[in-house]
Amino acid sequence: MTATTVFTNVRVFDGTGVTDPRTVAVHDGLITGDVVGAANAETVAGNARVLLPGLIDSHVHIDTRSDLEQCIRAGVTTVLDMATRDLAALDSLRALAGLPTVLRAGMPASAPGGTHTKKMGFAGSSAVTSEPDAARFVADRAQEGVDYIKVIVEDPRMPGTAALPAPILAAIVTAAHTRGLLVVAHAVTSAALRLADDAGVDVITHAPLNRDLNADEAAALAARGSVLVPTLTMMRGVSAAVGRKLMFRLLRRLRVAPPVEYAHARGSVTAARAAGLTIVAGTDANNEPGAPFSPRHGTSLADELGLLVDAGLTPTEAIRSATALPARTFGLNDRGVIAAGRRADLLLVDGEPTVDIGAIRNVRAVWIAGARVA
Ligand SMILES: [Zn+2]
Repeated sequence: MTATTVFTNVRVFDGTGVTDPRTVAVHDGLITGDVVGAANAETVAGNARVLLPGLIDSHVHIDTRSDLEQCIRAGVTTVLDMATRDLAALDSLRALAGLPTVLRAGMPASAPGGTHTKKMGFAGSSAVTSEPDAARFVADRAQEGVDYIKVIVEDPRMPGTAALPAPILAAIVTAAHTRGLLVVAHAVTSAALRLADDAGVDVITHAPLNRDLNADEAAALAARGSVLVPTLTMMRGVSAAVGRKLMFRLLRRLRVAPPVEYAHARGSVTAARAAGLTIVAGTDANNEPGAPFSPRHGTSLADELGLLVDAGLTPTEAIRSATALPARTFGLNDRGVIAAGRRADLLLVDGEPTVDIGAIRNVRAVWIAGARVA
């Protein structure tokens, strides 16, 4: 591998739009400020294509090497795993060269008797039974070296659902913050989102399906510096799957279905954007046989960016939600923008992604830490 690569005639996504054609140099895996002394450099002719920071998917569940290879082909060079049963297996993938960076939560905290331990195969020790047990749970994760804490916040009003109570949620957040770990909360209804916010979590993932986030709620989240990872791709898939099931029940029993509608997830993102809440792109890509929906690794991030634009983000804001904003949220200060000193995780695309977000699918080449991988 040549240590220096010079990209000529590329238009660079700079966070506000794309620049005029210019030259970008990479040396030893990092973007450099100048191209002097690049005698043995490899040259990549950009042909006025757009050079972007490698994309970051902030909600995935990785099982195999092929999941990560799919990510690469779609220009996704960093993924944040949001719950795994087998951290050792995930970490063995992290050790392989030429693949996306994987950050991970390990096991998620959930309520005793909840779906995660009863049906989804997570170890019993991931159930948190009391406030002191919250400290034990977080200490266990810290011992494993996880990158953040994931907590399942269920809606206590949902019949038959085991939900972590507010004091335990607050104890998990306190224990995590004491150790310098962010807390990411799963919440799919407005009541669950409220519980998560009251507990002081840093990041809320998914978006309410029962009603739109209102302007006051969005403003309160924004004022606290919260981050929303709405996973619209997943919410659309879930609402379609649940809708079909409910329709069968409805026909059988002539009952009124509770509102589980994608339109509420979309409307929540529209409200979040209007309030200035930080929105970060995540797909919830998974291979779970029992999952209501399984977005595909890699390509689903382009779907997500399209849905974010459909909910009101500009294409440039959508691209930032998969580059600079997740980097800032998760402390990945070495990436997310094209600037001197940052990691050369890059993708080159055809077309005008800041005008038509669909162009993000036109991936021509991908680099991880300066090495071409696709
Ligand atoms: Zn997930």
